[in-house]
Amino acid sequence: MTMCDTRKAFSDQAWTLTPCIVWPWAKKPNGYRQVYRAGTTMLVHRVMYELTKGPIPEGLQLDHLCRNRACINPEHLEAVTHRENQLRGNTFLALNPAKTHCPQGHPYDEANTKIKRRSTTGKPYRQCRACLREHERLRVRKTRSD
Ligand SMILES: [Zn+2]
Ligand SMILES: [Zn+2]
Repeated sequence: MTMCDTRKAFSDQAWTLTPCIVWPWAKKPNGYRQVYRAGTTMLVHRVMYELTKGPIPEGLQLDHLCRNRACINPEHLEAVTHRENQLRGNTFLALNPAKTHCPQGHPYDEANTKIKRRSTTGKPYRQCRACLREHERLRVRKTRSD
C-alpha cells in the first residue's frame, strides 16, 4: 500500500463519520445548492469547502463522497479531477448508497458485489454474490432431486 492509497482509504472512511448537512434553500434543478457571494452566484458546497479547507485547486472540481448533491458538509467533499469524478460516479457506491446490505443481510462490499445491467433499461444494479451462490446451490440440488 502506497502513501497515496493510505490517504485515500482514510478519506473514504472519514466522510462516513459525520452526517450529511443539507442546505435547504436555493435548490437548483440539478440538485446542487447555490448562494450569492461577492456579487455572483456560487455553489454552497464550494463555498463551504473554501471556508474550511482553503481554495479549490485550479482545474479540480468537488466530488460529493456521499453522493448527496444537497450536502454541504466539507468532510464529504473532495477536490478531484473531472475525469476522476466521472469514474467515481460509476462505482458501486454510487448505484444505491442507501443500501449497504442485501435483503439477506450480506454486505454490499467490493468482494461480495457483482454489478449487472438490466437487459431492459441498461441500468446498472448490484447483485449479492453470496445470494447468487446460494441460488445456484439450490438450483443444482433441485435439478438433481427431480
Ligand atoms: Zn454528505
Ligand atoms: Zn445476499
